[in-house]
Amino acid sequence: MQILRGTKDILNDEIIFWRHIYDTALKVCSLYNYHEIQTPILELTSLFTRSIGNDTDIVNKEMYSFTDQGQRNITLRPEGTASIARSFITNKLYINNSSNKFWYLGPMFRYERPQSGRQRQFHQLGVECLGSAEPIADAEVIRIATKILHQLKLTNYKLEINSIGNLEERQQYQLELLMYLEKYKNDLDQDSQKRLENNPLRILDSKYAKTQEILQQAPILRMYLGKESKHHFDTLCDYLNSMNIKYNINEKLVRGLDYYNYTAFEIKCNELGSQDTVCGGGRYDYLIKSLGGPDTASVGWAMGIERLLLIINNRFQPIQIKPDIYIATKGMEAKLNIWPTLNLLEENNIPFELDLQNNSFQKQLKRANKLGLSICLLIGEDEIRNNNITIKYLKERKQKIISLNELIQEIQKYSKTYQQTLTIHR
Ligand code: ATP
Ligand code: MG
Repeated sequence: MQILRGTKDILNDEIIFWRHIYDTALKVCSLYNYHEIQTPILELTSLFTRSIGNDTDIVNKEMYSFTDQGQRNITLRPEGTASIARSFITNKLYINNSSNKFWYLGPMFRYERPQSGRQRQFHQLGVECLGSAEPIADAEVIRIATKILHQLKLTNYKLEINSIGNLEERQQYQLELLMYLEKYKNDLDQDSQKRLENNPLRILDSKYAKTQEILQQAPILRMYLGKESKHHFDTLCDYLNSMNIKYNINEKLVRGLDYYNYTAFEIKCNELGSQDTVCGGGRYDYLIKSLGGPDTASVGWAMGIERLLLIINNRFQPIQIKPDIYIATKGMEAKLNIWPTLNLLEENNIPFELDLQNNSFQKQLKRANKLGLSICLLIGEDEIRNNNITIKYLKERKQKIISLNELIQEIQKYSKTYQQTLTIHR
């Protein structure tokens, strides 16, 4: 059997990095009183067509959609924000205003061309701050993103920000941009030519050199921003300056999703090559209302975990808790009576490997040696009868008989893993 293109198994030696990212996110987000939320992976297709917009890449060509047995149109979520907005409305979370700051980490699905840092099932960590129209909310979410990156020892990133104004300003700008680009229509790349009709703003972040050259003389979005948009943007810049968060203003930065207004930002890391954006976000004041909820100004971002992993894999040495202890048994009588020994190990947080084959003592010992463990506990009928254990120090090739009450003390003295385990459980 083959794995589906664009998907990946996350195996034991990698999972430890995932846990580290999860723990870091939990720690930082909790400090800011953001609550973890988990929404279903399946949603009605209309949630995404309505919120992300029909003219975007995601909805046009990237969604995994199907009809279920009840003839409903269902989509595997391509991103998290729409689901959180839906959840906010469905659960009427706006009523007592108790929790309106969320974070999540989970799988997303987009039918894209798989390459390094781009998969069809990928994972996003995201935060969403619902209910504040103030630039300090934009500043807070950006600060949380940078805190998480710093805690993950990722410091050589670049934050780019822009303002895409409100809907009217953008529409006005779009008209002017179209008028300008029509003149060069045939020189644009193919994607951009299509976007002339359905999503002209996205042409701004085209990766084609020729298109970018044409854009040099194009009208600039900033010139079309009204007083409020400008004020919001300037205030955000003031906040970033006062927090010492460095940024570049990128006039061409627009987000692919329709529901954004005012602030758009991305965090890039040049270690990543062409898929260099680890985090993308912005303000989306119109989304919740457009889905039938109350007017709720909001701002948030999402980070691609697979791209983070490409960078942080070599930044820290994870502590893997490996068992140091092998439990070998001989005979049914012994097998039925090992549980007091396991109880002791469990209570003291000592990991172990219990032999699950019905092999001879010798074979079990061989396996313990092969696994590189340092202690083997031998429990046979004699041991059970006398209420003791034979403890074998595999590296030293020594053994002795101890009573069950001495077991933990003996392991504490000897096992390095035990010390590590203590640190982790502390
Ligand atoms: P890109 O331009 O790279 O396609 P995007 O604008 O589609 O990104 P967003 O929808 O803003 O991305 O998602 C936020 C983040 O999620 C991205 O910055 C990236 O780190 C990650 N991401 C998006 N799509 C994928 C994917 N197919 N595989 C892995 N990570 C992804
Ligand atoms: Mg994309």
